[in-house]
Amino acid sequence: MGNPKYKRVVLKLSGEALAGQQGFGISPDIIKSIAGQIKEVVELNVEVAVVVGAGNIWRGKVGSEMGMDRATADYMGMLATVMNSLALQDSLEHLGIETRVQTSIDMRQVAEPYIRRRAIRHLEKKRVVIFAAGTGNPYFTTDTTAALRAAEIEAEVILMAKNNVDGVYNADPKLDKNAVKYEQLSYLDVLKEGLGVMDSTASSLCMDNDIPLIVFSFTEEGNVKRAVMGENIGTIVRGNK
Ligand code: UDP
Repeated sequence: MGNPKYKRVVLKLSGEALAGQQGFGISPDIIKSIAGQIKEVVELNVEVAVVVGAGNIWRGKVGSEMGMDRATADYMGMLATVMNSLALQDSLEHLGIETRVQTSIDMRQVAEPYIRRRAIRHLEKKRVVIFAAGTGNPYFTTDTTAALRAAEIEAEVILMAKNNVDGVYNADPKLDKNAVKYEQLSYLDVLKEGLGVMDSTASSLCMDNDIPLIVFSFTEEGNVKRAVMGENIGTIVRGNK
């Protein structure tokens, strides 16, 4: 079967992905499927860190559009990522995978604080580490969190697992049946073309630190493993094409 191409990865899951068909909250089936796919790669001795979003519960932008103070609304979003992270931890531990949640905002009763060296130690011990509460700062996203943490822990790749699309297209494939999927792209293309892969802060951080990104669908079982093995699934975004 060969060896995994990547030994240390950051898996980015949007909150929306956790909601499944219902569009809101946490789908037990989806979370089980993700946990199962993470288990598969942990068993290949791949070190897995996860960053979870919160779009299934709350987005700061929505709050601020309702008239809330933006920073307050963003803190709510960060707290919501902690709920998703605990749900994923629970699911992973049901499968016997040791998991630690580290938060960027201190909440010691529920999780460890984010400590870079400690996170790396956990990974070396083959524990899954879930980075919760985003970067700890308002005005950022969990995509930027994934880019930042990937740089900090020297992950070789960010795996962006999607539930609604299987890569990056030149147009919305749901609206335009002639939309074409890119096999590979550069971050500069993403920024220039305004492709909705990740926000520009996250893209720039990945570009500057030369961290590749694979955008793929996790709805096909085993795709996280395929991505880790280096199979051509989805779209790969690199510093230089
Ligand atoms: N957020 C933040 N700072 C961060 C990460 C997240 O303020 O470093 C807030 C922001 O309000 C965001 C929400 O948390 O809307 C949820 O994160 P995100 O939108 O990235 O989730 P996803 O789209 O991945 O579900």
